[in-house]
Amino acid sequence: MSDLVIGLTGGIGSGKTTIANMFAEYGVDIIDADIVAREVVAIGSVALAQIAEHFGKDFLLADGNLDRTKLRHRVFANEQDKQWLNALLHPLIRDTMQQQCEAAKSPYCFLVAPLLIENGINKSVDKVLVVDVLPETQISRTVKRDNNTVEQVQKILDAQVTREKRLAHADFVVDNNGTDIELLKPQIEDLHRQFIKLLANK
Ligand code: ADP
Repeated sequence: MSDLVIGLTGGIGSGKTTIANMFAEYGVDIIDADIVAREVVAIGSVALAQIAEHFGKDFLLADGNLDRTKLRHRVFANEQDKQWLNALLHPLIRDTMQQQCEAAKSPYCFLVAPLLIENGINKSVDKVLVVDVLPETQISRTVKRDNNTVEQVQKILDAQVTREKRLAHADFVVDNNGTDIELLKPQIEDLHRQFIKLLANK
């Protein structure tokens, strides 16, 4: 288990994945909530079988994988279904992330979660690193990355905590308003040094 677990968060399109990948180059283990959320419903999982039983087999794609789009639409339209799904998946995702944190071998590790604060995961990490960007930057990068409309991305932003609230939970901040990914490197290097120093003083 790593001696220091750092929660990495930021709104959609803020640059979490980009930044986590840069830390991975330093050999830092990355536990990603989005990846875990897919793993727990992989083909052969108990959760996938439970979903198919509850919602019907037509929520599976021809290859046996979960039809995420269909399920997303269903739970978006029905609060009870949403609660059922969350009650099934949230504890599973939380436990799996915990197991992966325990298996992490690097001196410190990252737990990357877009909804770190919204879901209270910030309480179970040692420090919080927030990727900070202006909402307009978030929107333009996400529109470009996902081929979505501004309205669709704005809706996702509205469902997440505000920039101010997220920053209020930050122990460390990466400023990703720059237009060049290369500009992040000195910040990442500096943070890596600070984390190593924190470990030495633990
Ligand atoms: P998140 O994981 O927070 O949703 P990503 O790391 O996927 O965000 O970044 C969103 C998009 O913006 C990606 O296409 C990424 O390549 C791009 N991006 C991230 N940071 C920068 C930057 N500083 N300059 C330009 N593009 C960036």
